[in-house]
Amino acid sequence: MRNLALHWQILIGMIAGCCLGLALNMAASEHSVTLTTGLPDGIVQAEVTDSSSRTVIRYRDKQQKETTVTVDPASTSKNDLRTFKDLAKQDPLASQIYNEHGKSLAKQVGGWCQKIGGLFLRMLQMVSIPLIVTSLLSGILSLSGRHGVGNMFKRTLGYYLTTSLLAIVTGMLLVNLIRPGLQTATSGTQGPTAGQELHQTSLMDVMFTQVEAIFPSNPLAALTQPNFLSIIAFTIIFGVFAVRVGGTTVSRIHDLARAGFEVMMAITTAVIRLAPIGVFFLITAVLATQGSSVFQSLGWYVVTVAAALLIHACITLPLILKFIGKRDPIEYARAMSPALLTAFSSASSNGTLPVTLTSVEQRAGISNKTGSFVLPLGATINMDGTALYEAVAVLFIAQLHLGYNLPVSQQIIVAITALLASIGAAGIPHAGLVMMVIILQAVGLPLEMQGIILAVDRVLDMARTSVNVWSDSCGCAVVEALDPQPDSPLNPS
Ligand code: ASP
Repeated sequence: MRNLALHWQILIGMIAGCCLGLALNMAASEHSVTLTTGLPDGIVQAEVTDSSSRTVIRYRDKQQKETTVTVDPASTSKNDLRTFKDLAKQDPLASQIYNEHGKSLAKQVGGWCQKIGGLFLRMLQMVSIPLIVTSLLSGILSLSGRHGVGNMFKRTLGYYLTTSLLAIVTGMLLVNLIRPGLQTATSGTQGPTAGQELHQTSLMDVMFTQVEAIFPSNPLAALTQPNFLSIIAFTIIFGVFAVRVGGTTVSRIHDLARAGFEVMMAITTAVIRLAPIGVFFLITAVLATQGSSVFQSLGWYVVTVAAALLIHACITLPLILKFIGKRDPIEYARAMSPALLTAFSSASSNGTLPVTLTSVEQRAGISNKTGSFVLPLGATINMDGTALYEAVAVLFIAQLHLGYNLPVSQQIIVAITALLASIGAAGIPHAGLVMMVIILQAVGLPLEMQGIILAVDRVLDMARTSVNVWSDSCGCAVVEALDPQPDSPLNPS
């Protein structure tokens, strides 16, 4: 097993988790008990009926007053609760009875698997901030000491932001159209319950809060909160001004950032090696507690991400390449095919960078100056596929968790944070997963829901990484066309 490539290991972990979870769900998700002893003070009798879709807790106190509470995520009745978190908040007594006596074996095992898989998610959270800071800083600082890059920097940045935003919009349109998270019986259909209520504010408020976050009053406090938007924004500001200061200052900071990045990459790679185990426990937890209906939504989710990636890679980027980059998209794609295939199989834009650089220069005829400037920066900050995937995944999770689409103001937060998350994501396998925490936190969605999509992350990672590399490559042609270099084949002289 250890000699197998990581994606095969993850696949095996996923299949094993699916089998165990489904078996548990089918064999041990029904449970009912009647209790007269061992109950909380003041309760004389209790009855619990638990299944994967519905849990009913009935108890009687000393005054013979009877209370019945139902937890059912798909219920249309206003009196029912949707989640066990709501139950703990609204009726702590019923929650205590359920936790101590009422859980089916499937839910007990599922709960433990969730805790163990949660350790993997915590590790991903642990590496995310230092990884973002060092990856971004070393990317930006690599620009120092280069002359005449001002215009190229602006064009490159303009291209990166435009294509990433176009990718996000494509993803969001499709996820709103296909509604993958609402194609299942397990998602609610009746709007939020008390515990799920999302904070609704005006669009202006939402935008302004994001703008405020770009200028943290205390950058160190932003690190500990953690406020990812502030962290990314301050790192960019710090990097850009370090380049301006120049001299030995910038080279010292650059060395430090590069060293930190190398160490963080090593830690992240080690954490990601645990993905097969993490996937196993998280998938077991999901299937043991929810049963096979989650597959239905996962299928739609994969279709949505894949369709949006295809539209972006085969329509949007080729149009930009043709009309602004002045290149034939098919020929250009053929020239870039070694890089695109390496990206697909390695799921790492950073790992693919040497192949991308040689393909761009030797096969697509882009000048060294443009290639060596646009591509390293692109591998760090330009990730169209990742941005699109983040937006689709978070909206899918919201649909699944809440049972309805996020309101427009919240979707705008998702779009902005997805853009920033993609800028901050390192070009390594599964980095998008690490960054998703930021967006889930920004709109107040539970981080555990990531466990559901983890199962199909590798295959989507391969696809989105190819789109990331394809966008970087198209960026070279666009920047070169706008600013032909002396050694460029586009330059007539
Ligand atoms: N694997 C992607 C890349 O290297 C990042 C991601 O996980 O989305 O480009």
